[in-house]
Parts: sequence; structure tokens; C-alpha cells
Amino acid sequence: MKILVLNSGSSSIKYQLIAMPGAGVIAKGIVEKIGLPQGAVRHQNQGEKALKLERRIANHTEGIEAILHILTDKEKGCIGSYKEIDAVGHRVVHGGEDFSGSVRIDEAVIESLRHNAVLAPLHNPANIAGIEAIKEILPDVPQAGVFDTAFHQSIPDYAYLYALPYSYYKEHKIRRYGFHGTSHRYVSAQAATFLKKDIKDLKLISCHLGNGSSIAAIRYGKSIDTSMGMTPNEGLIMGTRTGDVDAGIIQYILENEDLTPSGLNQLINKKSGLLGISGISPDMRELEASADSGDRRAILALQMFVYRLLKYIGAYTFALGGVDAIIFTGGIGENSHYIRGKIMEGLAFLGIRFENEKNKSIRSKTAKLNEDSSGIDLLVIPTDEERVIAMDTYEIVK
Ligand code: AMP
Repeated sequence: MKILVLNSGSSSIKYQLIAMPGAGVIAKGIVEKIGLPQGAVRHQNQGEKALKLERRIANHTEGIEAILHILTDKEKGCIGSYKEIDAVGHRVVHGGEDFSGSVRIDEAVIESLRHNAVLAPLHNPANIAGIEAIKEILPDVPQAGVFDTAFHQSIPDYAYLYALPYSYYKEHKIRRYGFHGTSHRYVSAQAATFLKKDIKDLKLISCHLGNGSSIAAIRYGKSIDTSMGMTPNEGLIMGTRTGDVDAGIIQYILENEDLTPSGLNQLINKKSGLLGISGISPDMRELEASADSGDRRAILALQMFVYRLLKYIGAYTFALGGVDAIIFTGGIGENSHYIRGKIMEGLAFLGIRFENEKNKSIRSKTAKLNEDSSGIDLLVIPTDEERVIAMDTYEIVK
């Protein structure tokens, strides 16, 4: 069975064609700059060179047409016709309180996504556009939705509620939803397999550290808390997002900076975080290089990133009542031995015996960074959200 996995953003669509049940990637790519004058499709068949086609792509339907076109192109493609696509799996950002697992998409699901779009105004409309486009072009192909929020629906009310008047939850659905759920679910399951333990016996802390970062406390396979909130702004310091801030600061800025709500949104989501502190870049590699050459604000940004992360690891250790393993994933978690090393320093007081040289050599592969007798394991586990979407879609449609 061949499954097309789609991750539709506001101006881009990432895709992978995956063969199930083995989950081998046949081809992958991205449609970029949808709606802008110079759109492009970057495509790569497995084992071949990547190629780029430049053309204007007016909307998501055209974006999906472009994907199907390149997949079936006689010279550049990898399948003979659309008929070879057996199912489509969508990454959907916000399922609100309606979805605690992946589902087959029907009219009721689309209606529910529309209803939840108020919670993710940039993302859900793009996801719906992707679903509608497939419905139009491949009307007989079954579609599944895999939600970023679903894994966190097990978080108890005392952890997901904000201490606003309760009516704000009832009327506006203001609460913690959490994101990166597909990644946290995948790496926690992988960790259990790697440790040869049943996930139902494990207390895990999963650190997904990338351009967006979040941390989750996972007890016996279920998320019991996570750092992102009603939106993906809360929690850890990220590339361009603030993470936790005193809500009173927002009022102060609005009163003193003459910002519109969308200007404020830009400030806290696009201009803050590592970029805002360093004034250099949101990118960890660039910041590590600048810190190496002595840039004080790059050093400060890295210190803040590590300090916030360490505080959350401490908090979640107590929320879980102990921890068996801490998992690093995402672009930073999988690759930055500097950040992992700093967390290891911060955890050293627990008596964990880390393998510092091994830490330096691990990039994007599953590994344990401590000696066997340590009590708490520190793991690197590469995430693979597309694979999970393909696996869930396969289970739903097979
Ligand atoms: P993601 O959003 O998961 O793709 O992660 C992107 C982040 O991972 C960026 O901040 C990158 O700088 C960071 N990253 C990727 N490779 C490395 C590396 N080798 N060392 C440090 N950070 C890295």
C-alpha cells in the first residue's frame, strides 16, 4: 500500500510517499511559497538527486496538483499513475478536544476541523485546504487525520487548565492542548523498544528540540503534561518564540509600544526566543558558532535555552514522581552535543555517569548517552512524524 503523507502549512506543503507496511520512503519533497509570485516544488525520489521546479502556485489545490504531477511524471516521478496512491494521511495541527487519536476523515471530521480553526488560525485552514484538494482530485482515495494535539488529550484537568476564571475554559476553550504529540508519542514508544521495557512501566521525559521546542511528561505511555499550551508559544525558549512569559508583560507592551494584536503576535512568535536574545539568528548551529567565537549575546541565548529546559526537566521529574529516561529529539536534540552536554552537566548531581565522548559523536541516531548503571537513562531518538502518519493511516484504512 502506498500512502501519501501531507503536511500542509499556510504557504507550503511537505509531502512523502511511503510504502506500507515497511514504511520505506519512495519520494519526498515540498511545495513552497504558495500564493506568492515565485513558487517552487522541490522533489526527491529515494536514492536520487533532488530537483527543483520553479513555477507560480496559486493555492493548495494547485500545490497538490503539482505534487501529484511530479510523482507521476514519466522522467522525474516514481509512480505510473494516481491510481497507485492508496490513501492520504494528513498532519493536522489542532484537533482541540475533539480528537484523542488519529481518524479517518469524513464530512463530520472536516466540520470539526473548521470549528477548531479558531484555535489554530494559521494551520487548520491550510490542513482543511489540503484535505479538500485531495477530495477534489482523488475523490475515491481514503484520507486520515493525525493530530499534533491528540497525544496530549490524556493530560488531566489540573494540568491543562490555566488559572483564569473557569468560564474562559467553558466559553472559549482556553486550556493547554500541547503540540508535537506525534513526535512525543513516537519517540517514547521507540525509547521503550530500545530499553527493552514495556512502555506501561516507564516514566519518560521527551524533549523535542527544534525550531519549535516542547517537552512532555509521559507516564506509562500517556502524556500527563507538556510545555506548549493553547498555542505553540508557551514553554521552552524557541528559535523565534518567547516560551513562558509573565502575562502582565503583554499588557505592558500593548500599552507602551502601540502594537496591534497581529504586531504582538509577530513579536512573541517571530522576533523573540533565540533570535530576539542573540540578535543574530534563530538557528542553533549559527548560535553555537557565534558563541564559540565569543559573542556574549549568543552565549546568553544558549544559557537561557539550557536553563529553561533544565527547569522543565526538574519540574516534570516531580510531576511524574520520578523518571526512568530522558529523550532528546528534533533537529537540536538529535544533533547538538553542546546542548545535550550542558543538560548532562545540569543532571550530574544525580550521580548519572555520562559518556561525554559518545555524546560528541552522536548525530541523528538512536543512542544511550550514559553508562548502564546510572538509574536514569539519557537517550537520543530521531523523530519521524511522517512515518507515524503513514503507520496510523495504514491502520485506519487497511
Ligand atoms: P527542526 O525544526 O527539528 O528541523 O530543527 C532545526 C534546529 O536544529 C535548528 O536550530 C538547527 O540549527 C538545529 N540543528 C540541526 N543540526 C544541528 C547540529 N548539527 N548542531 C546543532 N544544531 C543543529
